[in-house]
Amino acid sequence: ARNVTEAEKGEKMESLDASVSRILVFVRLRPMGKKERENGARCCVKILNKRDVYLTEFTNENDYLRLKRLRVRHFTFDSSFPETTTQQEVYSTTTGDLVEAVLEGRNGSVFCYGATGAGKTYTMLGTMENPGVMVLAIKDLFAKVRQRSLDGNHVVHLSYLEVYNETVRDLLSPGRPLILREDKQGIVAADEVMALLQRGNQNRTTEPTRCNETSSRSHAILQVIVEYKTRDTSMNIISRVGKLSLIDLAGSERALATDQRTLRSLEGANINRSLLALSSCINALVEGKKHIPYRNSKLTQLLKDSLGGSCNTVMIANISPSSQSFGETQNTLHWADRAKEIRVKGCEVNEEVVQMGEEEGADQAKLLLELQKE
Ligand code: ADP
Ligand code: MG
Repeated sequence: ARNVTEAEKGEKMESLDASVSRILVFVRLRPMGKKERENGARCCVKILNKRDVYLTEFTNENDYLRLKRLRVRHFTFDSSFPETTTQQEVYSTTTGDLVEAVLEGRNGSVFCYGATGAGKTYTMLGTMENPGVMVLAIKDLFAKVRQRSLDGNHVVHLSYLEVYNETVRDLLSPGRPLILREDKQGIVAADEVMALLQRGNQNRTTEPTRCNETSSRSHAILQVIVEYKTRDTSMNIISRVGKLSLIDLAGSERALATDQRTLRSLEGANINRSLLALSSCINALVEGKKHIPYRNSKLTQLLKDSLGGSCNTVMIANISPSSQSFGETQNTLHWADRAKEIRVKGCEVNEEVVQMGEEEGADQAKLLLELQKE
């Protein structure tokens, strides 16, 4: 008899219990940069059928004339986005449904993972002309809130956090989460949100060696909490709270390990602890462990209820097409391939009857304060 692989066990669980689902994993390839081309980079990634990713290894990377194709690896994901994909397409495919779910009182999270320069911030934040997932999600959310606000009351809490060197900082309004209430028009303009987040992004910690760049070692997390209140027939307030976390992770180039042994040996080397802890949690989730080590870092503490638990989780792995980034791209694709194996419990609705006077978003505020103190 042959051994049943973890993946097959997962499949079995899935078919036995419809409430167990896996996370969705996407790959986004960015266009080749001008500099890369000038430096003689070759394209080593091809995406076909919006699903299949082919990674080519070349030999003699520095010798254009004698460049040889070595071998081609094939990966497949829920969707793979070629370099021509628009921000709107990426948003609709990866995050649109999560925004809908958050309004129904579920949690959802979207992670961008990849090496520095692979396109994480472009995907999450984007530019004024081409706003990314964070901006499009908020815009969409407010449009939907407006459609629904006839039969209840919504409050949206927004916080934009940075985890850097195991310290949590609020990039928007240090000390307290920002609360956006519906204004008269009930809508927040996309460029207003963009301006807000860009200002926040400028507050991200920069590394001394690269003064003008936001740090490749900081994680940026936009958390949007939507609280919906209505009254039941006995005039009790029914409260539903959904939380959407959009995460622009630190560059993965310094944490390339995918197995526990290498992870542990890296830990001493001042490698981003939160990123390693995230990888450890993912490994534990893939292996179906009872104990998931969320407490090992600030990032995983913050995202405890946004990873693996009753939450819709989406991973976007960002990659560069350049043959000069082959190693990083290969690592990112392996990480993404492994993330496909995570099985999670079905996503539940967070709904409760609240007593009058209970404070909105109190739990989240408390957690944030705790994490900032530690
Ligand atoms: P990261 O946040 O992963 O370090 P960035 O998002 O800053 O990487 O991307 C690196 C560079 O590539 C930036 O100049 C960015 O504008 C550009 N870029 C990334 N993805 C795309 C894309 N899909 N289309 C056009 N330009 C992109
Ligand atoms: Mg970035």
